[in-house]
Amino acid sequence: MTVLPPINSLYREIIIEHYKEPRGFGVMANADLSLEGYNPLCGDRITVYLKLSPSKDRVERLGFSGEGCSICIASASIMTEDVQGKTIEETRARIEHFRDIMKGEATPHLEGDIEALTGVSKFPVRIKCALLAWTTLKEALDGKT
Ligand code: ZN
Repeated sequence: MTVLPPINSLYREIIIEHYKEPRGFGVMANADLSLEGYNPLCGDRITVYLKLSPSKDRVERLGFSGEGCSICIASASIMTEDVQGKTIEETRARIEHFRDIMKGEATPHLEGDIEALTGVSKFPVRIKCALLAWTTLKEALDGKT
């Protein structure tokens, strides 16, 4: 499913740009945490990798590999940029906020490319695509602590 739902054209462009050149893409050999996530509704299957800072309380590097639709890959790409350098606590709050937005339970207060994903929240069948990377990251963090 690479076809995008009819979201606004600026958001569309951002999503397509991330899909074509995903940030943080590739297997991370020295990851501290990694976990595979699967979205059976669409067939998206990605693995999220997390490298912690030496103090173990901060995301030093985030990456992912796998295959998915445009929204899934763009969302994972945007997440790797968004969470980079944040503390684990900030990362968890970010995941929570993003989930609430996608479920229509919070008003978006997001800046940058992540804002483009909020356009997907109007299309229930694609919300799981946008959330896959984020829920997988949360599960990886939960397994760790
Ligand atoms: Zn998908």
